[in-house]
Amino acid sequence: MTDTNSTTGRPLAVALKAAKARAAKAQAAKARVADAEYKAAIEALASSDEPRLWDVYEDGYYATIEASSADEALEIALEDFDRSNRSTDEGTVWVDIHAHCILTDERSAEGRITIDPDEPACVDDGGHDWQSPYSIVGGIEENPGVRRHGGGVLIDECCMRCGCRRTLDTWAQNRSTGERGLHSISYEPGCYAEALDTR
Ligand SMILES: [Zn+2]
Repeated sequence: MTDTNSTTGRPLAVALKAAKARAAKAQAAKARVADAEYKAAIEALASSDEPRLWDVYEDGYYATIEASSADEALEIALEDFDRSNRSTDEGTVWVDIHAHCILTDERSAEGRITIDPDEPACVDDGGHDWQSPYSIVGGIEENPGVRRHGGGVLIDECCMRCGCRRTLDTWAQNRSTGERGLHSISYEPGCYAEALDTR
């Protein structure tokens, strides 16, 4: 049987193999230096206050902003968030966001945006008069308008001027994360209007 790896009597092949090994070693050493330089460059930028680009994420990519630190990036992201494109028809909504630096791989803490629905208009500019008369909001007499809801309560209140219902839910759930026990506010205009009329 012939040993195909044998280099006996083949000095040029021996030299080639040695050169190849040296080249591989040199390449690895070069890569290590470049790697260390890259890491140092990341460190330098990350520990500096030089403005750098950050991608902001909510469920997915949301926007790109410029900031000098992870804390500042989160602050700007929270400030710049457009609350108007979220429907609060079914009550409060929550959006969790964070920022990630493209160059340094830094990640900000998670920030939460709570968007409560706007209070609907009352009969005039006088504003709502929120009360909890047992005869209207029901529940138990000692604690009108309060019902158990999971680990919390639902609290109904009535505007004595326009009959709008305001409900505070202390066991609300963020549908996109499943998190429970959040505080949600919702309104139902005219809900108690009839009850107010017949009092
Ligand atoms: Zn009102």
